[in-house]
Amino acid sequence: MPTYRTASEDETIALGERLADELPRKGVVLLIGNLGAGKTTLAKGIVRGRGAAQAEEVSSPTFTLIHEYGARVYHIDLYRLDEARQVATLGLDDLFDRDALVLIEWGERFPQLLPAARTEIRIRNTGEDMREFEITQIQ
Ligand code: ADP
Ligand code: MG
Repeated sequence: MPTYRTASEDETIALGERLADELPRKGVVLLIGNLGAGKTTLAKGIVRGRGAAQAEEVSSPTFTLIHEYGARVYHIDLYRLDEARQVATLGLDDLFDRDALVLIEWGERFPQLLPAARTEIRIRNTGEDMREFEITQIQ
């Protein structure tokens, strides 16, 4: 898939809405990038594009760890977890088995807990409000 660029938060939400149509119906999508890169913002667009919730209903799951939007979209943030055995208590495998899209921030820190087949979206801050999104489908 190509590289996308946005120049504002709203453009990133719009990009997420478009990507929602291209991403698999069921699967794991890693949102990879520094703090403030735009992972949660892109997730808002994807959730909205899936018709699972409005963008303003989507917030960072930094403290709650997992947000469920309907039965079809999950949004997970593993930032606050340090060890794989803490992550193991979340029951992610059960979510991965569901007929749902699972968006994960900071999931790349625990590669051994992820399915081999997944989509990775790398987000780079290329200055001020400019962001670059590189999408890779693995397997
Ligand atoms: P993350 O989840 O990666 O930590 P957030 O999506 O929560 O990042 O925050 C992104 C921040 O960057 C927000 O404050 C947003 O307003 C700002 N921002 C500026 N330009 C963009 C852009 N092009 N896309 C997304 N966010 C942007
Ligand atoms: Mg975030």
